[in-house]
Amino acid sequence: MMEKIWLSSPHMGGTEQSYVNEAFAENWIAPLGPNVNGFEQDIQSFSGTAHAAALSSGTGAIHIALDILGVGEGDVVLVQSFTFCASVNPIEYLGATPVFIDSEKDSWNMCPDALEEALNHFKDAGQLDKVKAILPVHLYGMPAKMDAIMALADAFSIPVVEDAAESLGATLGGKHTGTFGTFGVYSFNGNKIITTSGGGALVSASDDNIKLARKLATQARDNAPHYQHSMIGYNYRMSNICAGIGRGQMEVLPKRIEQRRSNFNRYLRLFEELGWAVEYQNERENTYANRWLSAFYFEPKIFGLNFREELRLYLETLNIESRPLWKPMHLQPVYEHCQYFGKWHCAEKVFDFGLCLPSGSNLSEEEWQRIESAIVEFAKSK
Ligand SMILES: *Cc1c(COP(=O)(O)O)cnc(C)c1O
Repeated sequence: MMEKIWLSSPHMGGTEQSYVNEAFAENWIAPLGPNVNGFEQDIQSFSGTAHAAALSSGTGAIHIALDILGVGEGDVVLVQSFTFCASVNPIEYLGATPVFIDSEKDSWNMCPDALEEALNHFKDAGQLDKVKAILPVHLYGMPAKMDAIMALADAFSIPVVEDAAESLGATLGGKHTGTFGTFGVYSFNGNKIITTSGGGALVSASDDNIKLARKLATQARDNAPHYQHSMIGYNYRMSNICAGIGRGQMEVLPKRIEQRRSNFNRYLRLFEELGWAVEYQNERENTYANRWLSAFYFEPKIFGLNFREELRLYLETLNIESRPLWKPMHLQPVYEHCQYFGKWHCAEKVFDFGLCLPSGSNLSEEEWQRIESAIVEFAKSK
């Protein structure tokens, strides 16, 4: 069997280990230290956010953001359905209820029309005060339509938490995803565009918000010589070892974005040669995607109903990993009882007929040739 080609695997730049060695040399083997501070500064200067807290995961960052916004028992969060479960689970941790919003065709992210419909629904029912946050996602590194989403959020006075876990470095009008809402969330899990092995960050323009986030992430310890607590906190701080990996990864992040974008374009060229009219997330005017994963949609009216699955299984026989897109949350057994807004079932269609192809920034030319000849062979069999 040929060696496995992964969908997206960690890609070290080379300096990560020296930051980790420094931590060992100075015995900063703790959930705080110079690498944590340095990594937070790196995130701030890269994304242009005023304040950042390095945390143990992106999921933890979403949990803390919603907690600070006062999400609790009986409340509602309007969240993009087409996403990974980590966008939604923290809503349940807090005893609140997710209400799912469909995606739109351009970006595959939160549809502003469906969001407006949901907001009006709660307003007309006299329950707008229950809606504590709006949570859009920049899926696969494509910016959501933040102008329209922020305009609605402002009109209805509801704060926004941006799940930018997949979109580090993606921008809209030159402004980084994660910096539009009251809070933004990044993830450094092993499969993301850069990794700390596991980790996340919460960013905000508000110093108070991030100070409170740091406190909540450290068991909400009060400023006293003994252990004193006047709130319930969490243990969500990032380790100084992981932050060392992060500092090294930040040095190569611009390169990683270029590499992922070039992967995506290489697939587009191949599809053009094959005459495949494949659809994908559109990079609209003034948007810049990081193309974390190369994700494509095979319209069944053109390709047939089984094309995506046949392609996936064919690649699997050659030990090439590919994966269907995120299964929408309103279709998940654990969330199917929840309310859903959307008329076009965009997320469902993209889930049914979409595929993520190998997208690592460390794909070798040899691996690329295996992928390309596999796709060409598959095309011949059609
Ligand atoms: C990875 C991811 C998260 C969660 O991040 P972790 O660091 O793995 O907890 C949240 N939302 C989306 C869309 C993600 O892809």
